[in-house]
Formats: sequence, C-alpha cells, structure tokens
Amino acid sequence: MSALLDAEVARPLVDSFGRVHTDLRISVTDRCNFRCTYCMPEEGMQWLPREEVLSFEELERIAGLLVRQHGIRSIRLTGGEPTVRAHLPVLVRKLASLPVDLALTTNGATLHSVAPGLAEAGLRRVNVSLDTLQPDRFTELTRRDQLADVLLGIDAALEAGLSPVKVNVVVVRGVNDDEVVELARYGRSRGVTVRFIEWMPLDGGDAWTGDQVVTQAEILQRIAAVFPLEPIARGSEPAERFRYLDGRGEVGVIASVTRPFCEQCDRIRLTADGQLRSCLFSLEDHDLRGRLRSGATDHELSDAIEACVGAKWAGHAIGQVQFVKPRRSMSQIGG
Ligand code: SAM
Repeated sequence: MSALLDAEVARPLVDSFGRVHTDLRISVTDRCNFRCTYCMPEEGMQWLPREEVLSFEELERIAGLLVRQHGIRSIRLTGGEPTVRAHLPVLVRKLASLPVDLALTTNGATLHSVAPGLAEAGLRRVNVSLDTLQPDRFTELTRRDQLADVLLGIDAALEAGLSPVKVNVVVVRGVNDDEVVELARYGRSRGVTVRFIEWMPLDGGDAWTGDQVVTQAEILQRIAAVFPLEPIARGSEPAERFRYLDGRGEVGVIASVTRPFCEQCDRIRLTADGQLRSCLFSLEDHDLRGRLRSGATDHELSDAIEACVGAKWAGHAIGQVQFVKPRRSMSQIGG
C-alpha cells in the first residue's frame, strides 16, 4: 500500500492515481569505479561535466523543500557510485539534519574505509551490491578485482552500526544464476538480508534480453528447496519479503519485470544533474537545476515538483509493445 496522506504536509506529492510519494532517491554522481557488465560498457561512458552536477548546497535546498513542504520521509543516496563523490560525509551530515530515514546504496568497494565516517555523519543504513562470491567471476562481472574489498566493506558497515545492512544481487541467467543459493547462504551466515533483483532493461547498451531475466518464481524455488521460506506481508518497499522457516532472517526479491509494483510506488528520483523523475523508466525529465540556477523561488520549485509527480504514469510497461527504453541508463539516472 502506498503511504497515507499526512495532514501536516503542506503540498503532499499525490499523483493522478492517488499514490502518495514519500521516498526520494538522490543520485550524487553519474561516475562509478566499477564497470558491471549488465550496467555499463567498459569504455566510452560520457560523464557529466562537473558544473552540471548539483552542488551540496543545491541538493540540500531541494531535499529540504521536498521534506518540509512535500512530505518526503526517506532519502537514499545513490549514483553512479555515491562514494566516489568527494566529501560525501559532508552531504550526509547536511541531509541527516532533516527528519528523514537516510540510506545509501553502494558497490562497497571503499566501504571498509568510509563506513565509520558515514555512520558518524548520520547515515542510518546501507545497501551493498554484490552479485557473486567467486573472485574470478567478480572480476569478470565488475571488471575490477575487488571482491575482498566489498566483503570487508559489508563487515565494516555492520561494525559501524549501519542497520540494516542489505545486500543487492542482480541475477542474470548464464552469469550468476547458479549462485542464488550460495548468496542466500552468505546472507544467513552474516546476518544480512539479501535481495535478489530481476535484471531490468536499463543497461548502458543493448545487452538486455527477456530470456536472461531470472524470475522471482525461479529464484524463490531455488532458495526454498534448500532453505524453506514463507512470505511476509508486503509494505511499500519494492522487495517482496520472505522469512526463513528456521528463523535465520529473511530474503527479498525485487521483481520489477515479472511482478511490477508500480501501483504501490511512492518514489521519485533526482539525477546528479538535477532532473526530477517520477519513474526509473520515465521518458521525461523535469529540470530543477535550471530553475534553481535561474533564481526560482521555493514556490516555483514546488510547482515544478508537483508537475513532475502529476505527470507520473500508471506503470513502466516492460514487456509490453509500447515499452520504450529510457535514453539514460540506470547508472546515469541513479539506481
Ligand atoms: N553503484 C551503486 C551500487 O552498485 O549499488 C549504486 C548505483 S547502482 C546503479 C544501484 C543498483 O542497481 C545496484 O544494485 C545495481 O546492481 C543495480 N542495477 C544496475 N543496473 C541494473 C539493471 N539493468 N537491472 C537491475 N538492477 C540494476
């Protein structure tokens, strides 16, 4: 169920289908220190020029407006890879002063060194992407030899008190689908929730094919054959959650392709260059940076934010004839 209207919120973000938006993803950079094969080409990414990327002050202003006027209650920092943005803890400290649940999604490559500083600055929780536990496969998949760093990073996040720590696994047939059970086992042993993600058509090239999507049904069948599961009632989060019957935690699946959750979507996204989007798959950006830099008042920014949410469509239409892939990839929008 999407969030309920809060009487205290001056201008709640309600779209034409009645969905209330309380969750914001902020991409702080389009750059990344990995080159995951399902996400980006090895060479040739065109990075945003520095001056096009929102400054911390600009991010603070937009986030503050969205929280105070529009009822945003959770913010997740992402990218690209958010930890490659210089002085990230400074931004975290600014945003942590807002009444929000503040989280980060990261590939974990440098988390072993940055987790304590981020936690100290006010970050509450973290999702770490980890698609394989096999060193050679990790190097092939990310085009970086850093599995050990990521595993250390997950431990460092737990140690720093970031809670919960979740691990995100994009499952691609023929790439890592044979590791679903091993990754679930890893999560159980480390006390972290693993969330398996169906591969979406948002790669930087034309690599995505429907038959490489490993469905939620298949993922659950494989896990449950070894670790029996039962469903947990769904909230507004994208993952469907399942509890291990032996009490050793839970696992989630984000089935954007086979079981879209658009009806419950309560999320908006701000790209690193200040474009507001009402859906990962939107074909339309709403330019906040231009307005911000040409002296827009808060009221005018709020009008633009409401126009974006008002134009949100019912759902993303993956797999239907009318589906059109967005111009920008996941890493350029902010995953
Ligand atoms: N660099 C950070 C990270 O690795 O978590 C944050 C950005 S990344 C784009 C966010 C998440 O999107 C990661 O878990 C990544 O695996 C996932 N992702 C990237 N491309 C995807 C795709 N085409 N379909 C599904 N998930 C994807």
